[in-house]
Amino acid sequence: MRICRKCGCTDNRACHGGCFWIGLDLCSSCYQILLEKHKEDPTEEPPSISKELIYLLKTDGINSKQKAIEILQNLIIYEI
Ligand SMILES: [Zn+2]
Ligand SMILES: [Zn+2]
Repeated sequence: MRICRKCGCTDNRACHGGCFWIGLDLCSSCYQILLEKHKEDPTEEPPSISKELIYLLKTDGINSKQKAIEILQNLIIYEI
């Protein structure tokens, strides 16, 4: 079963308010937190997103990781 490495949520037990998978072991709630950290301190590694998600975004004509992250960010705002 997939488990988020940060908060421990699973397919059967999502975070409060709902979440979805951003990385193989990272959910959208935790992704948002990591992204904020990265914005405040650019030396912090930006959160990684899964290859499958990048692939999905690529099929929409998005081919840079930065662009993908921007889109995900907007997506998350609507999801939560
Ligand atoms: Zn999480
Ligand atoms: Zn979660």
